[in-house]
Amino acid sequence: MEVPGTETTSLPATAKIPGLTCRFCDTPLRYTFVDLGSSPPCQNVVLPEDLNKGEVFYPLHAFVCEACYLVQLDEYVKPAAIFTEYAYFSSYSTSWLEHARQYVDMIAERLGLDENSHVVELASNDGYLLQWFIEKGIPCLGVEPAANVAEAALEKGIPTRVAFFGEDEALEMVGEGIKADLILGNNVLAHTPYLNSFVSGMKTLLAEGGTITMEFPHLLRLMQENQFDTIYHEHFSYFSLLTVERVFARHGLVVFDVEELPTHGGSLRVFAARHDGGRDIQASVARLQAKERSAGLDRIDAYRDFAEAVGEVRTNFRNFLADAKREGRTVAGYGAPAKAATLLNYCGVGPDDIAYTVDRSPRKQGKRLPGVGIPIFAPEKLDQTRPDYIVILPWNLRDEIIEQLAHARKWGARFVVAIPRVEIIP
Ligand SMILES: [Zn+2]
Repeated sequence: MEVPGTETTSLPATAKIPGLTCRFCDTPLRYTFVDLGSSPPCQNVVLPEDLNKGEVFYPLHAFVCEACYLVQLDEYVKPAAIFTEYAYFSSYSTSWLEHARQYVDMIAERLGLDENSHVVELASNDGYLLQWFIEKGIPCLGVEPAANVAEAALEKGIPTRVAFFGEDEALEMVGEGIKADLILGNNVLAHTPYLNSFVSGMKTLLAEGGTITMEFPHLLRLMQENQFDTIYHEHFSYFSLLTVERVFARHGLVVFDVEELPTHGGSLRVFAARHDGGRDIQASVARLQAKERSAGLDRIDAYRDFAEAVGEVRTNFRNFLADAKREGRTVAGYGAPAKAATLLNYCGVGPDDIAYTVDRSPRKQGKRLPGVGIPIFAPEKLDQTRPDYIVILPWNLRDEIIEQLAHARKWGARFVVAIPRVEIIP
């Protein structure tokens, strides 16, 4: 079958998975974006005593839709399995907390929110963000699917519903008299497999004249900077502005402003409202549309070279680890983010290559990275063992981490990142 405009592409067409269609527009998915092999669900850090029970590996094969250019993973792992008991507590990241605080200051001022407003955050995690609204006396509500994380929010006095958000939940909330002047979601749009239900649910819940802000990693940056390790099972969709506008438009929402943010390796913050809301569309929208078009994001061909660049990172990272071993140098990791599991599983890196990693989150300490079995300790382990190389696994926080670990230079440690390219930081 020929699709107009794609005849010349050299992307490998994939017809291996019958019935696999785009989660937004239902077009059959024929084009591989990148195939990262398979790995266990990333957030499932493993208890040592469970190591010999075996882990279930799922494919990590991303496709791009030739009709709407949504880059996506199939729903290999059911969201309930991923999110019901979640190991990621937002409050453990200092820079993320600060990002949240600044956002709340900005948006409260911009929208003139006060004690008569109502804010709803989707995927509100442990209340790391809503706490700043509470401090300002602005009523708010979190919706969070992971019961253990929601509990941490409730303990802080932050109203939270334990639920997966979608059209049904939105109708239920509206039925209880809830309407939102501001709906916000940071890194949740990409995490929902039920994209259409999620977006139409936001429209349902939005008060007249209300505003939606959504932050998500920017596909343009992912592609330009080789951020393939941000592809993991709980991260179902990867958006450009052009694609998000298309998704929102179908549900009667319009993006009226957009900001490029440095978070998570480069994110977008879109501002949206009802189509009939009469908002002026800011110049930022046309500017970013043009930037994405000039990078070719509106043509299937642009997605072609990505897999090759990813393969190069694997080769270089494995070479670095092999050289270190040959020279008798010790290598440890810093951080145990979800993205580490993608990187290390894809590159085939285990405890023989990186002896251990450390993480500030007590819930991860004493456990192992999924699939590769690398143990996770508290950060003090670095001071006790003084490794020659420290691989920074959350490369998006590299400056923050290098600063935190400045004292490691005293024993001659050098920092390494694998992405966007393998680099030993001088
Ligand atoms: Zn599509």
